[in-house]
Amino acid sequence: MHQEIKFEIIGRDADSRARAGVLHTARGVVETPVFMPVGTAGTVKAISQEQLERLGAQIILANTYHLYLRPGHEVVRQMGGLHRFMSWPRAVLTDSGGYQVMSLKGLGRVTEDGVSFRSHLDGSAHFLSPELAVDIQNALGSDIMMTLDECVEYPASHETLHRAVKLTGRWARRSKEHWARYQESGIRNQELGEEERAAPHSTVDSGPLIPNSQSLIPALFGIVQGGTDKGLRRESAEEIIEVGFDGYAIGGLSVGEPKSETYEVTDYTAALLPADRPRYLMGVGTPEDLVECVARGIDMFDCVMPTRNARNGTAFTSQGKLVVKNAAYAKDESPLDPACECSVCRRYTRAYLRHLFLAHEMLGAMLTTSHNLYFYLDTLRKIRQAILSGGFQEYRSRIRAGP
Ligand SMILES: [Zn+2]
Repeated sequence: MHQEIKFEIIGRDADSRARAGVLHTARGVVETPVFMPVGTAGTVKAISQEQLERLGAQIILANTYHLYLRPGHEVVRQMGGLHRFMSWPRAVLTDSGGYQVMSLKGLGRVTEDGVSFRSHLDGSAHFLSPELAVDIQNALGSDIMMTLDECVEYPASHETLHRAVKLTGRWARRSKEHWARYQESGIRNQELGEEERAAPHSTVDSGPLIPNSQSLIPALFGIVQGGTDKGLRRESAEEIIEVGFDGYAIGGLSVGEPKSETYEVTDYTAALLPADRPRYLMGVGTPEDLVECVARGIDMFDCVMPTRNARNGTAFTSQGKLVVKNAAYAKDESPLDPACECSVCRRYTRAYLRHLFLAHEMLGAMLTTSHNLYFYLDTLRKIRQAILSGGFQEYRSRIRAGP
C-alpha cells in the first residue's frame, strides 16, 4: 500500500514561526529546517556522493532541465532512475525545469500550453508542458517533484506578474491532475501508456523500478508566485492551496529585489501557507538569510551560493566571507575557519588553499566546496538544535550581530 509523504513538526520557537520537523520521503527522513545542495546535472559540482553523505546531506536538488537535455530522462530511467544512476541512496528533489528554461535569455517562449525553448547545448527545439515536467521528474525517480511555474524577471509590471500568477495557477492544476493519473493507475517510474492516459482508473501496476522500503509515493509541491506584490502573493497562494499539494514553495524571490523585500514577502507568504505542510523557499540564500527565513516559517532551502562561491575561491566562515586568493593568506597557516570542525579545516591551511587556486588546481575548488557545504549544513543543524532546545532567538541574535 502506497502512502503519501509525511511531515511531522517536532518543535517550535515560542517567539517566531521557526519550527523543526521530520519529512519522511521514499528514501529516508529529512530533518527540517534543511539545506539542499544543488546537484545540477546529477552531480553536486566538485564533490562526490560519498563526501556528501559524510557531510550529512539528507537531500539534494537535481535540475530537470539539464538532465532532460543530457543524458536525457529516458536514459536515466533505463539506468534505474537518478538515485541508481548517480549512486545516491538518499532523497532527491527535482525542480520543474521552468526556471532554467525561462532564464535562457531569448531562448524560451511561454504560451498557455507550456514553454518552447532551444537547448543551450546544440540549439535544438524543445517544448516543456506542465504534464511533461511531471513525466520527466517521474522518469528520473524524484522523491519530491515541483510543478512547472512561470518565473518572471525582477522588476516586472503588475500586469506581467498577474498574468504569471494566473498561468502558474492553471499549470499547477494541470500538473496535479496529470500526477493523479499516475497514482490512480499505480504506475511508478514508468511512462503512462495510452491505456492509462485514456482510462485513469485502470488498476495496472507494473511496480516501481527502484523499490523503497516505505513504499511512499513521491511528493508533488506547488509553487506560489507574485513577485514582491503582496496582493498577488495572496491570490497565488489561495489558488495553489485550493489545488492542494504535499508541500508549498515560494518562488520568484532572490531575483534581484532588495533583501528587505525578500524577507517581507517570505514573511507574508509563509504565513498564508498550510501550517502542517513543508514550506520551501527557492534559491535563497546566505547563511544569515537562512536563519532569518527559518524565523519566518521556512523549512527547506536550496541555493548555489556555497558551491558556486567555493569554485570561485570564496569561503563562508563564522567570521563572514573569506576570499581564499587574497595575498594576505599567502603564508597563513590557519584553516579557512578556525571555528569550523570540518575535515578540510582540520587538515589544510589558507596558504595551501590559496596556492591551489592560483595554480588552477582542481583540489582548491573541491576542498572549498566541501568546507562551504559543511558550513551550510552545519548552520541548519545548529538552527534546528536551537529550535528544539529553546535557544533559537539567542542563536538568531548572535548571527545578526555578525562576527
Ligand atoms: Zn571547514
